[in-house]
Amino acid sequence: MICGYCQKVILRNLTVKEILFPWLLSDTELCSQCLRQFTPIQKDQACPRCMRSGEQDLCADCQRWQKQYPQRQFFHQALYQYDEAFANWLKEYKFGGDYRLRRTFQQQVRVALKGYRGFIICPIPLSQSRYQERGFNQTSAFLEASGVKTHTLLRRSSHDSPQSKKNRQERLALPQPYVLACSPELLIGKKILLVDDVYTTGRTLFHAADILWQHQPKEVRTFSLAR
Ligand SMILES: [Zn+2]
Ligand SMILES: [Zn+2]
Repeated sequence: MICGYCQKVILRNLTVKEILFPWLLSDTELCSQCLRQFTPIQKDQACPRCMRSGEQDLCADCQRWQKQYPQRQFFHQALYQYDEAFANWLKEYKFGGDYRLRRTFQQQVRVALKGYRGFIICPIPLSQSRYQERGFNQTSAFLEASGVKTHTLLRRSSHDSPQSKKNRQERLALPQPYVLACSPELLIGKKILLVDDVYTTGRTLFHAADILWQHQPKEVRTFSLAR
């Protein structure tokens, strides 16, 4: 077994469950040193809607989204705090193009998404040009590495300069970049989980959700590795 981040071989004793059910054993997990770098979000110390850490009640971001989308129900789940360690990992994976790192959070994602049985899982799409430049969609890649079946419901029509180079106000003012990529009847009455790598302002996920909401899904939820 190797570490999904530093790629070192992990030596550890198997658990009883792993001995009894060896097929549950994955070939990649995080070594204890790498795992320790990341800070899991504590649900009881975070915004109940978006899991922003250090909030007691609905955070300012969620209050603004509620005002902008008063008819909509939204709930976001994130696994880790977007801190320096996560930013470093993302830099290597997404911007450095280290495709091996799609497996870093394999187990954590698999466990978390067990809570979304019956949901259609839709990764946030990249534009054609960004996809060609990066060679892979970082969100689809980590989902597939976790054994999650994904569906393409949206397409990104335009891609100007990367969001990561924009400040908060510029990000919030971005125009709707998504269009529907499936037949609209497919969405009626469905439960959909939109997945992104990071939730920063929420702009991306709300844009994507807004397209889906127009086609009478039962529910749209959102998920990211970090918040
Ligand atoms: Zn490691
Ligand atoms: Zn919030």
